[in-house]
Amino acid sequence: MSKNIDWQNLGFSYIKTDLRYVSHWKDGAWDGGALTEDNRVHISEGSTALHYGQQCFEGLKAYRDRDGSVNLFRPDQNAARMQASCARLLMPPVSTEKFIDACEQVVRANLDYLPPYGTGGALYLRPYVIGVGDNLGVRSAPEFLFSVFCVPVGAYFKGGLTPANFIVSPYDRAAPNGTGAAKVGGNYAASLLPGLEAKERSFADCIYLDPETHTRIEEVGAANFFAISRDGRFVTPKSPSILPSITKYSLLHLARERLGLEVEEGDVFIDQLDRYTEAGACGTAAVITPIGGIQNGNDFHVFYSETEVGPVTRRLYDELVGIQSGDVEAPAGWILKVE
Ligand SMILES: *Cc1c(COP(=O)(O)O)cnc(C)c1O
Repeated sequence: MSKNIDWQNLGFSYIKTDLRYVSHWKDGAWDGGALTEDNRVHISEGSTALHYGQQCFEGLKAYRDRDGSVNLFRPDQNAARMQASCARLLMPPVSTEKFIDACEQVVRANLDYLPPYGTGGALYLRPYVIGVGDNLGVRSAPEFLFSVFCVPVGAYFKGGLTPANFIVSPYDRAAPNGTGAAKVGGNYAASLLPGLEAKERSFADCIYLDPETHTRIEEVGAANFFAISRDGRFVTPKSPSILPSITKYSLLHLARERLGLEVEEGDVFIDQLDRYTEAGACGTAAVITPIGGIQNGNDFHVFYSETEVGPVTRRLYDELVGIQSGDVEAPAGWILKVE
């Protein structure tokens, strides 16, 4: 409020907030890190992040609780995933303790940007690690930078949960044993053209099939896929080239423990979509995007409805969003209070 932000009309766009955290790695160790007002990164023109894509990132949200406190949702999971991404790209890991401390410092330093309870907004945190320092040949960088900045973001769906349509892409987002499971920028650069081609045909984004056989659903744009089968199971694809979504694993847990559904990580064949009554895309930014229909070649398959969210998807959404804002009791360890 002191920042004069129109909380009701926040989107998902960059806004410069007051302070961000920066830490440098050199000679085998991370320094203590510090907050800075400078939102520019000054790095060597030889940085591996610029030429060879040696970088990874994370995305998580802080929510204002009904009682005024601040909830971070499962930051330990983001820390662990960033450690896995760093390992895949030969970058030094950031410990869970350092990762969470950086996130907490950034939230505390930018509390005026945290959307109020009830607006549906949140403070989105963007941690990243990049290879920096003078370098030319293809090798791991001599130095690294770990930073966390934050941006207030709005509710993805202003008018409630609105289904979107998707189209199967002829492109692959990752190779069978490539970097699909790591949250790295290269996967995103490769997804820009397929995403644009889907949007030009009036679809929300594209669906990627498994790169080996092109018969099974893997990802929905930059989100994970789940479906509810006719016999009431929560089904989600399993593959080494899928990015393990924390939202997806949270929904899987809630489906089993709170909704009493059977859950399955397995194959979702693109030519057997009539096995499912509902489908959705999930991730931190949008939480859940209900999938109205999927275009595959000349076939258009509609799940529950092109205009209305299905009942199981709705219950999963309410449960998860309720936990994040403190209205529903969280499973042990899911909410970290920022003091
Ligand atoms: C980040 C990401 C997701 C969603 O992960 P969450 O942890 O739920 O935010 C899904 N797919 C891709 C490719 C991603 O990069």
